[in-house]
Amino acid sequence: MSAIYDRVALIGLGLIAGSMARAMREKGLAREIVGHARSAETRATAAEIGLVDRVFETAAEAVAGADLVVLAVPVGAMGDVAAEIAPHLEPGATVTDVGSVKQAVVQAVAPHLPDGVHFIPGHPLAGTEHSGPRSGFASLFQNRWWLFTPTEGCDPLALERLQDLVRRFGAKTERMDAAHHDLVLAVTSHTPHLIAYTMVGVADHLKRVTESEVVEYSAAGFRDFTRIAASDPTMWRDVFLQNKDAVLDILGRFTEELFVLQRAIRMGDGQHLFDYFTRTRAIRRGIIEAGQDTAAPDFGRSQPGPGEG
Ligand code: NAP
Repeated sequence: MSAIYDRVALIGLGLIAGSMARAMREKGLAREIVGHARSAETRATAAEIGLVDRVFETAAEAVAGADLVVLAVPVGAMGDVAAEIAPHLEPGATVTDVGSVKQAVVQAVAPHLPDGVHFIPGHPLAGTEHSGPRSGFASLFQNRWWLFTPTEGCDPLALERLQDLVRRFGAKTERMDAAHHDLVLAVTSHTPHLIAYTMVGVADHLKRVTESEVVEYSAAGFRDFTRIAASDPTMWRDVFLQNKDAVLDILGRFTEELFVLQRAIRMGDGQHLFDYFTRTRAIRRGIIEAGQDTAAPDFGRSQPGPGEG
């Protein structure tokens, strides 16, 4: 299989960058893969396990000569990284990011990039609750969506080339407006994560009353929440701070629905609860039919999937 890029520079060497590196290696999609991470520890690990061909101490050195630069750091760090690399980018290079929020990243990154560099914001809807240079794997993006939110005037050839790369990872691609992306993700990912964090927090308080029962008799629903709530704290702090408006909008709607269900329980309105749960069950069926999860009784816990940003 022929390479799509000559040199790919990965800025940030965690779950997503590590999975991209492995997928590119496996399929020979880049002639050279180089990388940079903030801490000496992560850089040493990446070098030790051969995650990329060369590890650089600075992001500026890593992007020199690269025809594709991938920003794979927490969304709150994207602007500073863009400012640092901007003077060192090759004319004609493509810069993409994998951040879970798009409007804030576009606002933070785009102003720094020189003319002649193609900025194509992206977001793979794939992940696990693990992080760091050892956590990635080549099949992470298989059959997952990779959303792109190109801005007006984006070079169609640069976009096609980048889409070609991620399709070779096994991903499905779609383009959408950044604001629309942020609202959709607030519904499908960000607010559910916040609810999981809250539920685990509630159980943690309760644990002090019931000793170890919460852990001991932890049922499937709660276990799924704890897995999601084990996701990287830095990444998720940044997601909520950077997608504030959409998350607050969805959280407001969620609270209203919760009050309606609370009232139905208080009033003994079984019909309301039954109808509501029947509607939600149909949504679950739709997700399975769309191939985005498995109907296995373990909720696909043995496979990567939910937990993505
Ligand atoms: P990760 O495993 O925690 O890795 C993050 C990497 O970014 C690390 O190499 C870290 O370096 C580096 N980094 C952190 N702060 C930095 C800074 N201020 N300057 C430079 N480098 C910095 O994270 P990840 O899961 O790969 O997430 C990366 C991006 O992908 C995030 O924007 C996230 O929103 C997005 N994303 C994540 C998922 C998911 O489920 N995890 C899914 C889709 C998209 P050190 O190790 O040296 O600190």
